[in-house]
Amino acid sequence: MKKYRDYKCQFCSTTILKANGEYYIEASHISPKSEGGKDSFDNILILCPNCHKLFDYGKRSNEKKLEAFYCVTINDKTYEVSLR
Ligand SMILES: [Zn+2]
Repeated sequence: MKKYRDYKCQFCSTTILKANGEYYIEASHISPKSEGGKDSFDNILILCPNCHKLFDYGKRSNEKKLEAFYCVTINDKTYEVSLR
């Protein structure tokens, strides 16, 4: 997944290049695993650490999940990302 997304945050397009030449990025579940969320393509967002925490702790509203897109408003800012 991370490689497929070019190690780029799906919210802000940030990439984090490490000294060893690899990239650092995080995988975030839309539906948490603790609530039965799966490790599937359409349940995982690739996010930088900032956006990951924003996603986990921010105020989510207008959450919409279509087959190929996931749309969410967090703290009044709207994000639309591909799930393909
Ligand atoms: Zn980000």
